[in-house]
Amino acid sequence: MMRFFVFGFFLLLFVPSPISAGFYSNSSSIPPNATGNVWNSFLNFTGCHTGMKVDGLYKIKQYFQHFGYIPETLPGNFTDDFDDILKNAVEMYQRNFQLNVTGELDELTLIHVVIPRCGVPDVVNGTSTMHGHGRRTYEVSFTGRGPRFHAVRRYSFFPGEPRWPNHRRDLTYAFDPRNALTEEVKNVFSRAFVRWAEVTPLTFTRAESFLTADIRVGFYSGDHGDGEPFDGVMGTLAHAFSPPSGHFHLDGDENWVVSDSGGDGFLSVTAAVDLESVAVHEIGHILGLGHSSVQDSIMYPTITTGRRKVDLTSDDVEGVQYLYGANPNYNGSVSPPPSTQQRDTGDSGDAPCRIDGSRSVLTSLLMSTVGLFLLYLL
Ligand SMILES: [Zn+2]
Ligand SMILES: [Zn+2]
Repeated sequence: MMRFFVFGFFLLLFVPSPISAGFYSNSSSIPPNATGNVWNSFLNFTGCHTGMKVDGLYKIKQYFQHFGYIPETLPGNFTDDFDDILKNAVEMYQRNFQLNVTGELDELTLIHVVIPRCGVPDVVNGTSTMHGHGRRTYEVSFTGRGPRFHAVRRYSFFPGEPRWPNHRRDLTYAFDPRNALTEEVKNVFSRAFVRWAEVTPLTFTRAESFLTADIRVGFYSGDHGDGEPFDGVMGTLAHAFSPPSGHFHLDGDENWVVSDSGGDGFLSVTAAVDLESVAVHEIGHILGLGHSSVQDSIMYPTITTGRRKVDLTSDDVEGVQYLYGANPNYNGSVSPPPSTQQRDTGDSGDAPCRIDGSRSVLTSLLMSTVGLFLLYLL
C-alpha cells in the first residue's frame, strides 16, 4: 500500500492520459465484441497442484502477488512451477474468501479468482486484512430464547489507520475534465458519496476545480502513472488511495452500467459492472477502509457482473464510524448481514486485526510528506 502514496505523489507530476469509458443504461445491451475478461485464461489452470509445471502459470503468481498473497519483496520473474510460494498463496486466498482450503487451483477457487474486483490488495505486508476475526463482536438481541448470536465484524483499515483529519470533515470532489463525463454519470458518484455522508459527520460537495478538490475522480486506461496499471475489460475495475490522498481511479476500458437510483438488486445488463456499486466501494477506501470478508458488505473485494450492490451493511457502517463517528441524524437502520451471524461458541475471538507497526509508521510519514507537498503545490 505504501507504493500508493509514493506513486500518488508522482501522479501529480506525470499527468496520465485519460480515456472515455463505455457507459450503458440498465436497459441497453453491451456489444458482443466489448465483453470478455482478461483473467478468463486462468480457468485453464483448473486442477493444477503442487509439483506440476504448466505453461503460463507464472501469470497467476503475478495475480496473487498483485493482491498481496505473494510478498511484493519477491522478484516478479516467477517460474511456471507450482511451488510452495503458489501453494501458500492459494491457501491464504481460499481462507480469505471462505473456500475449501485445498492449496490447489480447483474449479471453485478459479471461478472466484476471475470475478472482477477492486485493485486494492487484500493482504498488506504479509498480513491478511480479511480473514480471522474482526475488531470487535457485538451481540444481536433476540427474544431471550435459544442460543446467543454474535455478528463478527470483519471491516479493516489501511496500515496505521489513516483517516481524514478532524479539521477536514467537509470534503470536495471533482472529475478529471478530460473524461468529459455526462451529468448522468457524475450523478452516480454524487449518490455514492451520499451513502457514506448519511452515516458519518462527513460532507461531500462537488467542485469544479479538479486540481484543488480533495477527492479527484478519473477514468484511465492501462498504465496511468501510479504504478498500478489497469488491465482492460473486467479483471481489475478500479482502485483508490487511502487518506488523505483522494485519488480515485476507474478502469477506462470497462463497460459501466449507469443505473437509476435505487438499492441493491440485479441488472438487466448482465455483461457489465454497475458503476455506482464500484463507486461506493472505492469511496470506502478514500475514507480509510480496507477490504472486508463479509460477502454482503460494500468493502468485499469482488463484484459480479449484473449485480447492483450499493447499500452499506452494518459492517461498513461500523468500520467508517470507528474512524469518524456517527452522523447525529443517522438512525442506525442498517441490517446486520446474515452471512456474519454465527453461534456463540464462548470464544470471544475478537483478536484485533492489526497490521505490521513499522510499516504503519513509515506509511504515516509518507502520508505527511505527500500532504506537505500537496499544500506546497497548491
Ligand atoms: Zn477495494
Ligand atoms: Zn491509478
